[in-house]
Amino acid sequence: ASGYSLLRDPHHNKGLAFTEKERDAHYLRGLLPPISINQELQEKKIMHNLRQYQVPLQRYTALMDLQERNQRLFYKLLIDNVEELLPIVYTPTVGEACQKYGCIFRRPQGLYISLKEKGKILEVLKNWPQRNIQVIVVTDGERILGLGDLGCQGMGIPVGKLALYTALGGLRPSACLPITIDVGTNNEELLKDDFYIGLRQKRATGQEYSELLHEFMRAVKQNYGEKVLVQFEDFANHNAFELLSKYRSTHLVFNDDIQGTASVVLAGVVAALKLVGGTLAEHTFLFLGAGEAGTGIAELIALEMSKQTKAPIEEARKKIWLVDSKGLIVSARKESLQHFKKPWAHEHEPVGNLLDAVKAIKPTILVGSSGVGKTFTKEVVQTVASFNERPIILALSNPTSQSECTAEEAYTWTDGRAIFASGSPFDSVEYNGKVYVPGQANNAYIFPGFGLGVVMSGAIRVHDDMLLAASEALAQQVTEENFQKGLIYPPFKSIRKISAHIAANVADKAYELGLASHLPRPANLVKYAESCMYSPIYRTYR
Ligand code: NAP
Ligand code: MN
Repeated sequence: ASGYSLLRDPHHNKGLAFTEKERDAHYLRGLLPPISINQELQEKKIMHNLRQYQVPLQRYTALMDLQERNQRLFYKLLIDNVEELLPIVYTPTVGEACQKYGCIFRRPQGLYISLKEKGKILEVLKNWPQRNIQVIVVTDGERILGLGDLGCQGMGIPVGKLALYTALGGLRPSACLPITIDVGTNNEELLKDDFYIGLRQKRATGQEYSELLHEFMRAVKQNYGEKVLVQFEDFANHNAFELLSKYRSTHLVFNDDIQGTASVVLAGVVAALKLVGGTLAEHTFLFLGAGEAGTGIAELIALEMSKQTKAPIEEARKKIWLVDSKGLIVSARKESLQHFKKPWAHEHEPVGNLLDAVKAIKPTILVGSSGVGKTFTKEVVQTVASFNERPIILALSNPTSQSECTAEEAYTWTDGRAIFASGSPFDSVEYNGKVYVPGQANNAYIFPGFGLGVVMSGAIRVHDDMLLAASEALAQQVTEENFQKGLIYPPFKSIRKISAHIAANVADKAYELGLASHLPRPANLVKYAESCMYSPIYRTYR
């Protein structure tokens, strides 16, 4: 290849870091200015430039340009500065990027499969240059973050999620494939927007929708085999539950909004119990919000509970109550409930609102997963605190403005007794001379390590026990020092190490269940996970 095309190939380009020898060997003389600098200095320069931008979206486009120009440098930056860059590559900035995706669109970063490609999806997959795909993240754009239907412009999400699979979980970038399925959008603004990049029609539903998705799932298996992990992301809840139950027995599928969320929250709860005491089954849970997140978390907690007590899962579910937009979910409502709520319709008289539900149920653990902010009012929080020495309060709704309550409110309303974690990050709070550090139940703790564990063991199905294994591994990474500050999640800066432990525990479970196809099983799975992880350090070209 010519030096000129080498500089334009993001997989091999090193920019000014090409050495004298490489410049001679690869026809680069004169194509670069005379000095040569190392990767560390390049990194320092780009971070310096990024910090000059006041507008988050500019940081986003600068990072995406870097990914297009010099992939290794992009991942080096992301790995070394994960806490600073995560909010740009992922939520919240990626959300704004999706809203304006048509405007900032430069080059495609993934595959677009629309209704126009019906009957030709296998050919579309073959157009993608990489053959050895290990992880696909796919969205239909109907429920992007907390922003709703962004149609085809949801592409920012699979792109961002897969960047995290690589940076945090060590999956090779060339093995990752972002896909957006475009069946139209019901977003009127986008339909009227000149710059919108998707099909200009209302969403296809019913048979038309399920046929396209079925063709997609078949084509994926035909093209990549049994061992490609398909992660469903940001589908609206009716489709999310249906796709997961339809394909979980025939494909290697994972839904981060349901299962990933469940696993990260269970890990936080398990860690919190080390502070509070008691087994899972000795606690009572009350959820505000009974959608993908709420019922997903509830189900995984019930599963873990039933394993611990060796009682049927139906028994375990009775310790968990959910409130939706119509009040407490109870048996009297059973007829009209969506199917994913039915397991939670326990015997109780109807209760119309959260405060009354708190008084009736007396939860030890309160979880917010409705997407509606400021719903854990002072009265709600203090009522929970009135019958718990250390109330556990998880305000999971995103973004920050939708959080059920702030960290500061949780601590001050409970005289510092609350154990608090949230979906969006909050700063530490100083209260009565003590510093409280709230944890963030970020899905990015789980899915990268989970994916690595699945891929490195060659698992062919996702079993719920593998999600429990991921939670267990994450909870074990919380140190005594973290607990002292009230943290129920480990600090994010050691995420690569955390991911390796999660991967090892997930792989171990896959081997135990007979779902792993990479044989023999490596003796030390943590070491093996670490050895599998992609490194962004430049290679020397001879
Ligand atoms: P979803 O599937 O749309 O579910 C929302 C649920 O909240 C539904 O059950 C809905 O009730 C209920 N709800 C809405 N408004 C309500 C109100 N005013 N009072 C009581 N209940 C109400 O959404 P989701 O995917 O589960 O996401 C929910 C929230 O969780 C989002 O803010 C999301 O950002 C957050 N989340 C956080 C994490 C994390 O922390 N790692 C992960 C995933 C999601 P109906 O069923 O009656 O409509
Ligand atoms: Mn999501």
